[in-house]
Amino acid sequence: MGCKILVVAEHEGGAVRDITWELLGLAHAVAPQGGWGAADIKAVLPGQGIGAVAAAIAGRGAAEVLLVEAPELQDYACDGYDRAIEAVVKAEQPEILLFGHTPNGWDVAPLVAAGLGVPLATECSQIAREDGRWLFSRKAFNGKFIQVLDLGKARPLVATVQKGAAGPFAGTTAGQVRAVTPALGVLKARFVETKKGEAGGVDLTQAPVIVAGGRGVGAADKFEIIKSLAAALGGQVGASRPVTDMGWLPHQHQVGSSGVTVNPKLYIACGISGAIQHIVGMKGSGYIVAINKDAEAPIFGVADVGVVGDLFEIVPALTKAVKEARGQ
Ligand SMILES: Cc1cc2nc3c(=O)[nH]c(=O)nc-3n(C[C@H](O)[C@H](O)[C@H](O)COP(=O)(O)OP(=O)(O)OC[C@H]3O[C@@H](n4cnc5c(N)ncnc54)[C@H](O)[C@@H]3O)c2cc1C
Repeated sequence: MGCKILVVAEHEGGAVRDITWELLGLAHAVAPQGGWGAADIKAVLPGQGIGAVAAAIAGRGAAEVLLVEAPELQDYACDGYDRAIEAVVKAEQPEILLFGHTPNGWDVAPLVAAGLGVPLATECSQIAREDGRWLFSRKAFNGKFIQVLDLGKARPLVATVQKGAAGPFAGTTAGQVRAVTPALGVLKARFVETKKGEAGGVDLTQAPVIVAGGRGVGAADKFEIIKSLAAALGGQVGASRPVTDMGWLPHQHQVGSSGVTVNPKLYIACGISGAIQHIVGMKGSGYIVAINKDAEAPIFGVADVGVVGDLFEIVPALTKAVKEARGQ
């Protein structure tokens, strides 16, 4: 039957990963530009024993979920997933194939694109149709430029999409689940084990509030005041690169061009100067508060509210005020 937009769904521990809902949200947002509707959006879901995951996706965004189940796909491994996805793409002939810009997406999207002999746009934040061409936008040169890519006439147009590029699909659909069983052949990559990062559970991309500390905090143990404010606000702790380079916090906390890109509702930057490599990772935040003792610090250029002062006075006072206001 075929489709126009095929989303590569991700799952973990029997649950749908949030990136899948965002890819479906993006697919529904751009489909009308191609003259397509909800019926033209499908998802491919490799794995094993994930019927409930497939049903969830069919109920929330995909007209059809192509479920590829096999023991070899129980855990993610690049060549099994590559072959499963390629087989579904060849059968469905989509115009656009979307992966999350996630560790799985970084790994398998290039294999799929190479296998299909088509180009790949990575880390896209926007997809739009102009003058009959699909254009894929992505940041370049640490966010100083937006690069707009025209992938040409080959199909499908393959892209990995940044987390947070689109809101999750919020509607419901009465999609179908269809099991497909492509021959996977002899696989060379084998899943061995998953090692969780030390910060376990920190996902700054999903945090509604981030309180971030920079070199101005001064030492690992002084981060307690940043952690207290984050806890009082129900948020997560972010950091600039020197903080993670010096081992004050694990790398998962780093915001910026070599860390994560975040867009919380509230971002409070404490003792962070505002280097471009940090700014590119947080300038999309809804409301930015900067606390810095240097009135000339570039961070004030992107802040909605700037506080010139010593973070060791301001942050504890803010935490106290938040706790009082919340009756904590
Ligand atoms: C290829 C590359 C990639 C990079 N990737 C990243 C990245 O992903 N993320 C990132 O953050 N950086 C990144 N960097 C580093 C970046 O260029 C900056 O060096 C870094 O962001 C600076 O961190 P900072 O603001 O914490 O430190 P600093 O620039 O040293 O600033 C510290 C600030 O704290 C203030 N301060 C000091 N004491 C106090 C106090 N008591 N109260 C209030 N304010 C105080 C100071 O006035 C100063 O503005 C990258 C660099 C390169 C070259």
